[in-house]
Amino acid sequence: MTTSLARSLACIDCGASYPLGYRLECATCQGLLELRYDVEQLARHGPDLFSGTGLWRYAPVLPIADPAHRITLGEGGTPLLDCPRLAADLGVRRLLVKFEGSNPTGTVKDRSSTTAVAAALQFGYRATSVVSSGNAGSSIAAYSARAGLASLVFAYERASAPKLLHMAATTRDLVIYKGVYDDLITLWDRLVGEQLFFDCGASRNAYKHEGKKTIAYEIAEQTGFAPPDVVVAPVAVGETFIAAARGFREMRDAGWIPRVPTMVAAQAARANAVVRAFRSGQPIEPLKIGYTVAEGLAAGNPGRKGDWVLRLLRESPSVAGEAEDDEILAAQRRLARTEGIWAGPTGVATLAVLEGLVARKELDPDQTVCAIVTETGLKTEAEPPSRAGVAFDEASLRALVRERLGG
Ligand SMILES: *Cc1c(COP(=O)(O)O)cnc(C)c1O
Ligand SMILES: [Zn+2]
Repeated sequence: MTTSLARSLACIDCGASYPLGYRLECATCQGLLELRYDVEQLARHGPDLFSGTGLWRYAPVLPIADPAHRITLGEGGTPLLDCPRLAADLGVRRLLVKFEGSNPTGTVKDRSSTTAVAAALQFGYRATSVVSSGNAGSSIAAYSARAGLASLVFAYERASAPKLLHMAATTRDLVIYKGVYDDLITLWDRLVGEQLFFDCGASRNAYKHEGKKTIAYEIAEQTGFAPPDVVVAPVAVGETFIAAARGFREMRDAGWIPRVPTMVAAQAARANAVVRAFRSGQPIEPLKIGYTVAEGLAAGNPGRKGDWVLRLLRESPSVAGEAEDDEILAAQRRLARTEGIWAGPTGVATLAVLEGLVARKELDPDQTVCAIVTETGLKTEAEPPSRAGVAFDEASLRALVRERLGG
């Protein structure tokens, strides 16, 4: 089936229901909106609803009605990799890595960019805009180009060189901003209502984050609908976490899976507003943050999405944890060495958090754990190894190979 089963938008706070349209918040209480689907049809047809490959395989549970609007660069369908050596290192029974670095622009952002840009077409927009620490910018720009839309990207001045290059190459218009994400996003959000661009930000647009829900559907399919006990997801603003949690709940409500996994929210210690609130039982207090190597997690004020993450964490058995920059960089090296997966610091924050939770016995290690690793390492900026080279002749080359490989 290629028909969308999306039926309405519903306010997550007061439950008010709205017809499908470009609406960013509840008219009565300003609450965030979520998409609702025909659960009866989901239950009746089961996963046979899905056909084709990649993200748009899940078109029935996405809100884009016209197949002509379903812009693609080949996103989704990312591998779920069993990592026995890393599992042994961390001391967990079984570890699965959902590697989002194999998406077209190298990050999980492509899942939401494809539905954001498709929605921009669906609602007749000709331009997109986004404020980005690097990944969202190149992803929104790439999908906008693919759709023939203009894009205006605001990029963090400290974004890595590869991220800046990627953004400059793909966007119609790149503007570098000074200061932190949180400050500019507050101003930018106020301009969304002027309708000069389609909202590709992370704070409100339900159509945008819906694409990330497909991570949950893929994990379920890849495990034969016996999903892992635990899923570790990163939280910056919370799109990935919310979307994954909603995907699992949708499948449970449709009777496809017996229960939802325990969700773990992973943050960088330098941008840990949600973890703090979860731990203290208090509301989120926005933080003034500086630089973290997990550039994509550098949000000190996750806003209403952060409140939503907190609510999901409190509604069902969940865990939250944070990792320091040096732990994140250690996790990056370890993943590359033990499993050959080269991921960026933002991407491996989940593994660094998992390691800490297991070491401190905050998570039962006798389970199957899936960590979402959200970006490729090819966008990382770091000091390369020394380029001081060695010249060889046949004898010295033979001597070296024998020495190194013990021949
Ligand atoms: C943006 C981003 C995240 C998480 O952001 P959310 O808004 O919380 O979904 C995680 N990893 C990478 C690589 C990112 O670019
Ligand atoms: Zn409401």
